[in-house]
Amino acid sequence: MISRADLERLIHRQNGDLPVLSLFLDMSVDSNNKRNHGVFLNQKRAEFAELQNTTIGTGNGEEAGYGGLFERIHDWIANNYQEANRGVVIYAEVGGDWFEALQFPISVQNRMVVSDRPMVTPLAQVLTAYEHYGVILLDREHVRILSVYLGTLLDEVEFRGDPLPTASNVKAGGYSQMRFQRRKREEMKHFFKDFSEEVDRFVNRYQPTHLVLLGTEENVGRFREYLPEHVSSKIVYTGPAPVDAPASAVMERLEPLLRAEHERHDGEVLAQVRDRAAHDYLATAGMQATLTALQEGKVDTLVVTRDGEHQGVRCTQCGFVFVQAMKRCLYDGNETLEPVDVMEEMVRLAQQQGSEIQFTEPGELGDLRGAAALLRY
Ligand SMILES: [Zn+2]
Repeated sequence: MISRADLERLIHRQNGDLPVLSLFLDMSVDSNNKRNHGVFLNQKRAEFAELQNTTIGTGNGEEAGYGGLFERIHDWIANNYQEANRGVVIYAEVGGDWFEALQFPISVQNRMVVSDRPMVTPLAQVLTAYEHYGVILLDREHVRILSVYLGTLLDEVEFRGDPLPTASNVKAGGYSQMRFQRRKREEMKHFFKDFSEEVDRFVNRYQPTHLVLLGTEENVGRFREYLPEHVSSKIVYTGPAPVDAPASAVMERLEPLLRAEHERHDGEVLAQVRDRAAHDYLATAGMQATLTALQEGKVDTLVVTRDGEHQGVRCTQCGFVFVQAMKRCLYDGNETLEPVDVMEEMVRLAQQQGSEIQFTEPGELGDLRGAAALLRY
């Protein structure tokens, strides 16, 4: 499973002199239950073989490195790829040792890029499309907590109280019945208190973005009162569900609700960016303004188009990135500017400064000229 830590690690990787290949493979099956990544791989392999035949080697073995690399990729897929996963990312040095493969249950667009460093944007897209949820299933005597990430069950914990036995001599409606009911109520309070501590522990350990609380209306309402504020504020949805429902059925039912919640949040951010940009208040619109704000460390939330690409340049002296090709750097006059993918640059900067990143469908950012941001100050 992948996490933000992978993104961090890749961004901070010390890059050597060798070119880095970033390969993204869509491993989902088509209507005939077949995977088609092989077609894409063969096509790329042929392109690189062509390159090898038509260019005179630079002498550093770079061209020769591709053949071995494709073999290695092929071997990795044959031996390590797990069928349940729908996306694969492979990073490798061409002609070098570094080879790293990640797999996850979400599909990505087929893509292969050779650059001086690993391309992280498609990975960031996968990570931001899904949040980490804790699903709490509750009745009066036990609680189950599911850790759900990228639409899959990562972990599950369960706690049971030790309930009073239902005594056979308790007569309905009698004095002992009343006493029994009172004791059951006391028992529930103890259990709910214990369960809330378990939920708190779960939240601290797994750091879910949101929580879902499922049970009867009465239990859910009562249980909420036992939860500390920082836990209770994470609850985005409550509803009925039997405490012993199979995890897969619970997740399937929640999926559209969580998706809707995610879209609602994204829609809110977009509306806020538009509103603020219109009033010229703590927001940017357009790639250069957004890039500049990122380079100044001001961005709270970055909004960019999914699978976007935009070629810009970076000053080799001060490192500043410009959206358009220029003759010299605006800041230091340096004339050596190298090409960079501005989208990748923005995502890296945002991740490095802990900004939230939101990817939108192509076309949605037309009025905001391809990129926008909410600013911190
Ligand atoms: Zn410069």
